[in-house]
This record gives sequence, C-alpha cells and structure tokens, in this order.
Amino acid sequence: MVGEGSSTTLGHPRIGVLGGTFDPVHIGHLRPAFEVQTALQLDQVRLVPCHLTPHRPQPLRSSRLRASMTGLGIQGLDGFVVDDRELQRDEPSYTHDTLASLRAEHPNAELYFLLGVDSLNGFDTWHRWRDILTLCHLALMRRPGYALNAFGQSLMNEHGATASEARDAACGCIVSIETTELRVSSTAIRALLARGGDPRYLVPDPVRDVLLERTDYQDKHD
Ligand code: ATP
Repeated sequence: MVGEGSSTTLGHPRIGVLGGTFDPVHIGHLRPAFEVQTALQLDQVRLVPCHLTPHRPQPLRSSRLRASMTGLGIQGLDGFVVDDRELQRDEPSYTHDTLASLRAEHPNAELYFLLGVDSLNGFDTWHRWRDILTLCHLALMRRPGYALNAFGQSLMNEHGATASEARDAACGCIVSIETTELRVSSTAIRALLARGGDPRYLVPDPVRDVLLERTDYQDKHD
C-alpha cells in the first residue's frame, strides 16, 4: 500500500490497534475498523483481545475462545490480524502496556489506537492514559447512543487533529473518523443468544457458526 500520503510498509508502517473484550466480535467492531483502515491507509489492523479485564468483570467465556472467534471474524480481511499478546500476560491487560510493547517492536511505526466514543469518554479511568498519548495517536470511531461527554470533548479540544496532522506528529493526536454507526454491542448479542436467538448478520458467519454450535453463551447472559 504505497501511494500518495501512504507509508512505505517496510520502513514506516502504519499500524492500527483495536483492543476489546470481543465477547463476541461483531460488525460494530469490524466495519468501523475497516473504515478507519481505509481512511488512514493503515498497513495493518491488529485486533487485541483482552485477557484479564481490569475495567469490568471477567467474561465467562475464555480468552482463548474470544480470541479464536475474533480470528474467524477477520478471515479474508486484508491487513487484519489477531494479536494475542495480552493472553501471554497473566496480569491485568492494560492497554498502556500493550501499546508500549508494540511501540518497542515497531519504533518507527505510525501507531493508531482505535476506540469508540464510549471508550474515549471514560479514557481518564484507564491506567496511565496520559502516557498512552505519548505512545500513539487515537483514531476515534462513532458509536450510536454515545456523544462526547465533557471529558471526551476536552480531550478533543486539546488533541483533535486531521489525518495529515497526525502523519506529521509522532503521537498524541486524536483523529475522528466518519465511521458507519451500527447499533450493535456484544452485550446485546449475548442477551440474544441467551434467549435462543440467532445473531445472523450481527457477526460474521464463521463466528455465528461457533456461537450456535457451542453452549458457552446459552443461559449465561451477563
Ligand atoms: P460489551 O457490550 O461486552 O461491553 P462491546 O460491544 O462494547 O462489548 P468491546 O469489545 O468492549 O465491545 O469494545 C471494544 C472497542 O470497540 C471499544 O473501543 C468500543 O468503543 C468499540 N466498539 C464496540 N462496539 C462498537 C460499535 N457498535 N461502534 C463503534 N465502536 C464500537
């Protein structure tokens, strides 16, 4: 992917990182992430399933299952990979630590952490959130039902930037991307499965196959 405004993949890759519980992965993760990949011409988008969740109760489904379904969800999607580094650490999966390890591996990369508006609104509760902005840029995805709150707005006032401004800066920009608003959440999908519903079209078909075959999500709505 080399062209106007693009990077050379070898020397200066553009890498997007989407962290999530992915319990399960759904089109509200994938379509906006695909749109960010296109808008920012990302060479790679790394989906990073959370292992030990510091901000929420531990999911009932194992990290391995969530990660393997995430892999099924991105089959055939160019540039998308599952990065299971949080599963290798038996300690809380802090995004800061994940981004620091990615930064160490890719010192010359343009690094973008993708997140929805709901996540930006609570960003000040994240471990070492200010330091996260010294490791990467943020790419903000819209999410229906969520407008920027006062904190999110103040971050945008301070760090909001265009894509080209972000390309010229090492880190610390927040680029807002016009992503399609899909009113989908893992919580709603879990509730649907718990009452025997079919998640067709809310998740990629190979993910749906696993969800319907296994009993992990039945009667376990949380
Ligand atoms: P849950 O319902 O279990 O809380 P979720 O659907 O919010 O899960 P997560 O895996 O927690 O999904 O989200 C990971 C990231 O994806 C977060 O940054 C979140 O803002 C973003 N995200 C999730 N769903 C959407 C959506 N429908 N539109 C835009 N961003 C989303």
